[in-house]
Order: sequence, then C-alpha cells, then structure tokens
Amino acid sequence: MGLAVREVSKSFGDIAAVRKVSLDVPPGMIYGLIGPNGAGKTTTMRMIMTILNPDRGEITWKGQPVRKVASRYFGYLPEERGLYPNMTIREQLRFFAALHGISGPGVDREIDEWIARLDLTEHATKKVEELSKGNAQKVQFVAALLHHPELLILDEPFSGLDPVNVRLLKEALVSLATQGTTILFSTHRMEHVEELCQRMALIRGGQIVVEGTVDEVRRSTGRMLLRLQVDGGRDGTVELLRSFAELPAPRHTPAGWEVEVPAGFDPQQVLRQAVATGATVTRFEVTPPSLEDVYITIMGGEAGNE
Ligand code: ATP
Repeated sequence: MGLAVREVSKSFGDIAAVRKVSLDVPPGMIYGLIGPNGAGKTTTMRMIMTILNPDRGEITWKGQPVRKVASRYFGYLPEERGLYPNMTIREQLRFFAALHGISGPGVDREIDEWIARLDLTEHATKKVEELSKGNAQKVQFVAALLHHPELLILDEPFSGLDPVNVRLLKEALVSLATQGTTILFSTHRMEHVEELCQRMALIRGGQIVVEGTVDEVRRSTGRMLLRLQVDGGRDGTVELLRSFAELPAPRHTPAGWEVEVPAGFDPQQVLRQAVATGATVTRFEVTPPSLEDVYITIMGGEAGNE
C-alpha cells in the first residue's frame, strides 16, 4: 500500500483545477503524471504535499492521511525552485538537511556523494546565485531527498536540464526506486515517462483521462499500426499495402512503412499476401501507437490553457 489519491477535487474561485482525481502509486514505483500546461499536475502534487487542502476527497500514504506523514516521509521538488542565493551548494544542502533534524559527518558524506554523482563537484564551493539553472535544479533535487523520504514528489524535474543532466537525473531516480523510494513526477515529455515509469496518468482539464501501465495507455485508444517492409524497397512495400482497398494510405516513418489498421481488418492477410507473391519480408509488426501518438490523439493537439 503506497500513495492513494481518492476522488480529490480543488477549485480556485471559478477554476476547477483538479476534478475527482484518483490514482495509486505502489511502493517503490516510478509514476508519471503527464499533461499540458494548466492540467492540474502542480495542484495535485501540492495537495499530496499538504501545501493545499483538497476541497473534496482523500489522500493517504500507507493508509495514513497525508497531513500526518508528509513532512516526515515525503520529499518535494517544487515547481518554483527556492534556494538561498548567498549559500554555497554544500552550505545549502547542510541547511536543508538540518531543517529535517539531520546533521553530522554521515550527512556531509552523503552530500558529497550526491555532489559527485550529479556532476556538481567543480561547482561545490560556488554560491547558488552563480549556478546555471540546471545546476541549481540538481541542488534542489538533492535537497529534497537528504532526509531519505519514502515518497519523492518531483514537479517537472527534467525541465531546463541538458541531455547529459537528464541522463544523470534518470539514473538517480532509478537507483532511488531500486532502493525502495516511491517516486511521482510530472512532465510534458513522453520519452521520460516511456523510459522510467511503470505506471502513468494522462491528465487534462483537471481530470485523469487515462491511467495505467505504459502499455495499457498505449493500447487505450484501440488504434493499431501495421509496420511493413519487404525487400525491393519502397515500391514493393507500398504496392503491396495499396493492394488492400480497406487500408488507408501508408506513411513512411523511421521504423519503415506504417499504416493504421482499420477495425475488423486482419493484418495477417498482408503477411500471407506478401509471402504468396514471393516477397522477402524484412519487417512485419502490429503495434499500438507510441505514447507520443496517444498523447496527441487524446489531447487533440491541445497546447494547454495557460
Ligand atoms: P503546468 O504544466 O503549466 O505547471 P499544471 O498541470 O501543473 O500546469 P496547475 O498549476 O495545477 O497545472 O494549474 C491548474 C489550474 O489551476 C490552472 O488553470 C491554474 O491557472 C489554476 N491555479 C493553480 N493554482 C492557482 C491559484 N493559487 N490560484 C488560482 N488559480 C490557480
């Protein structure tokens, strides 16, 4: 039993920011909350962290109301980053640890390990105001976990990081999860969810639109794609696909020729036909659309309401 969010709602005046959101994050899992700007991700996280009170609904951690456990067992990387500009990285991290009642050589060693692990060593004696945005963000991430929280809530942890730092942070998240930390993070980017998460929710207009494993979400639209490549290059593949009147026009993708499989159409007949014509099939795949495709189908190209 991990984090349970049950039918939680929150309005700001006329704006229904979060509407009957329910989700479960089992212990040790990395969970992705994905949606456009203004979808309600930050508001949901603030309610989990007890910074905001829900108007309705209930949030529990291992069966206990979050207001009893959040300050001790949860770590939070907020959307608005808040570090003290005049402190060095080490001072800053010692300060955040001390806020949780932790000090001494043990935590100093741990701080140095994180500084090395996140490639901050050459900046360790710099003041926070001298740091780049990405480096300051990494410091704030470390600040969120020095008290060894059971649940880490990360609001857009990858925003503003270059690919090398995205990789470092992903490795850190995977290793924390392996050690049993439960992680919930928000993002706009599908590839982060696809790579890291066991479960995810798509949220829009304050409501969860689809929730489940990455595979379940990919299958949720019911759409299937057929990818085909036969020897002889473009013409052979396209000609074969076009010989089926029921199929829409194929498109070329980095993964080969791709066509949407209409309801009731058995893609195996394409394979049988290819073999019957003596073609050599180098790729035949029937797959749900990518997470990115699903996001665009469900969100309808929505750019957000902020
Ligand atoms: P983003 O990806 O842009 O961070 P989000 O999914 O985190 O967006 P929220 O910040 O939760 O979305 O906002 C949800 C809605 O609630 C938005 O319409 C926002 O304007 C509104 N909102 C959030 N906080 C407040 C507040 N304190 N007062 C009034 N409205 C608010």
